[in-house]
This record gives sequence, C-alpha cells and structure tokens, in this order.
Amino acid sequence: MTCRELIDFIMEYEDGTLPEKQRVLFEEHLSLCEDCVHYLASYRTAVQLGKSLIMPSNEKVSTQVPEKLIRSILAARQADGTSLTE
Ligand SMILES: [Zn+2]
Repeated sequence: MTCRELIDFIMEYEDGTLPEKQRVLFEEHLSLCEDCVHYLASYRTAVQLGKSLIMPSNEKVSTQVPEKLIRSILAARQADGTSLTE
C-alpha cells in the first residue's frame, strides 16, 4: 500500500468499514510509515474538533478554544501516533 492509498482508505478505516484485507495492509503501512501515522493522528484530531465545533451546545466554547489548547491536543495526538511505531 502506498501513502496515497492509505489516505484514500482512512475514512473507511475509521468507520470500521474497510475490508479485512485492506485493513491488514493499512495497519502494515502504518507500522512502517511514520508520516502516515502522523497523518492519521491529525485526521482524528480534525474529525474530533470538527464534531465539537458543529455541536450547537458547544458554540460558545468553540469560539473560545485557545489556539494553545488545540496545539497541545495535536501534540498529544501525535505522541500517541508515534508510540505505535515503537
Ligand atoms: Zn505512508
């Protein structure tokens, strides 16, 4: 699997709809490619931020989320990702 293919499959992987065969290749690539681990981590962060930003009850909060907090979330996520390769 190439990085390009992995990115194409990320949505299905996250939905749990990726067929077993592809999922194995996907995870195999993740174990070899740090770039894609980081990409997946930021994809997840983006999805989570997106979800929290579109929730009406969080409307007030979302406008007040400090950039520093978002960065620390991103950093934590990336730390999670890198630990997968070890
Ligand atoms: Zn890759």
